[in-house]
Amino acid sequence: MQRIEVDEKGYYGEFGGAYIPEMLNRNIEELKSRYLEIMNDASFKAEFQLLLKDYVGRPSPLYYAERLSAQYHTNIYLKREDLNHTGAHKINNALGQVLLAERLGKKKIIAETGAGQHGVATATACALKGLECIVYMGEVDIARQAPNVARMKMLGAEVIPAMSGSKTLKDATNEALRHWINNPSDTHYVIGSVVGPHPFPDMVTRFQSIISEEIRWQLKEKTGSELPTHVLACVGGGSNAAGAFYHFLNEREVNLVAVEAAGLGVDTGSTAATTRLGKVGVLHASKSLVMQTDDGQVIEPHSISAGLDYPGIGPMHAYLFDSGRATYLHATDDESLKAAYNLTKIEGIIPALESAHALAVLEKMNLTKKDVVVVCLSGRGDKDMETYIQRMHKFI
Ligand SMILES: *Cc1c(COP(=O)(O)O)cnc(C)c1O
Repeated sequence: MQRIEVDEKGYYGEFGGAYIPEMLNRNIEELKSRYLEIMNDASFKAEFQLLLKDYVGRPSPLYYAERLSAQYHTNIYLKREDLNHTGAHKINNALGQVLLAERLGKKKIIAETGAGQHGVATATACALKGLECIVYMGEVDIARQAPNVARMKMLGAEVIPAMSGSKTLKDATNEALRHWINNPSDTHYVIGSVVGPHPFPDMVTRFQSIISEEIRWQLKEKTGSELPTHVLACVGGGSNAAGAFYHFLNEREVNLVAVEAAGLGVDTGSTAATTRLGKVGVLHASKSLVMQTDDGQVIEPHSISAGLDYPGIGPMHAYLFDSGRATYLHATDDESLKAAYNLTKIEGIIPALESAHALAVLEKMNLTKKDVVVVCLSGRGDKDMETYIQRMHKFI
């Protein structure tokens, strides 16, 4: 059977590639020719693995959620990326790319951020390594994620507001790309998801693949089998899902389920359900599915969770969707809030609003006692407390 991986030009089927302005050719070529060599280098691996263990706190636990399992009459394991240092899966990639940038001789780091988790993770890795860090963040997200903005500043990063468009993640990404185009030689752009020009989607997937690498041996320890029946993860750009899926991509008996943000509902015009509404197009320098008008204008997305508020998905996900290898479901703002309050109440875990989208589809899936379901709990809910407090009266 054909293996699912990126080809030499950076494509998954028809999706991917590197649609970049000439000014970025050297950076992208340099990255393309060196990322695998650096990632496979013994000293890089040793440093990265030690930091993942002692600094990030890996392996993250695979937790059997007994009461949640009873509620849905099945077996649910939570992959606890929320317990990582800085509170989400983002640190796996940010740390990996900052170590890689160091080996490329780069002195400055730029990043974009939505929920602020990737900005915090990148600022953290830069503090650890003594590198200069600039983070672009939509003005709207700066307002709704104040604690993370304060963290980034405390970590020594400069936070620059993106004022264009919907003033959210897409716009922050545009401005970070623009910065990189103007400062190509000494700067590395740490993209926070499996999006952007090749080789970013593949590189970020590989850094996040530690998630499924651990799930396999952890599940073997607990159940005797490395393979679950289902792996669920939320999708903004798609990095926690790519990491949770990676080592199962070629195990056809494992159902891969990605969950997008439906916002107020997929037909309301206020949504981020890209696979439902997207058409083939180029966004942030790669070809993928993009929510756009007939004449190619990007449609402003909406999700209650800043991390999923993105009008595209990574090219690997476009391919997994198109080929049918993975199933793409969606959950609304309210369904996700309900799932977040439920998990908190019955398991004592306050999830990130993003992760709550993955939990929200459990009740739509007709799971049975024979199923073994792994849900990637991509992050913790501390950053979302203001939203949870505001909406609590409706759900509790
Ligand atoms: C950023 C973020 C996401 C969405 O990003 P992906 O690249 O799709 O994983 C999901 N969950 C949390 C907690 C996040 O911080």
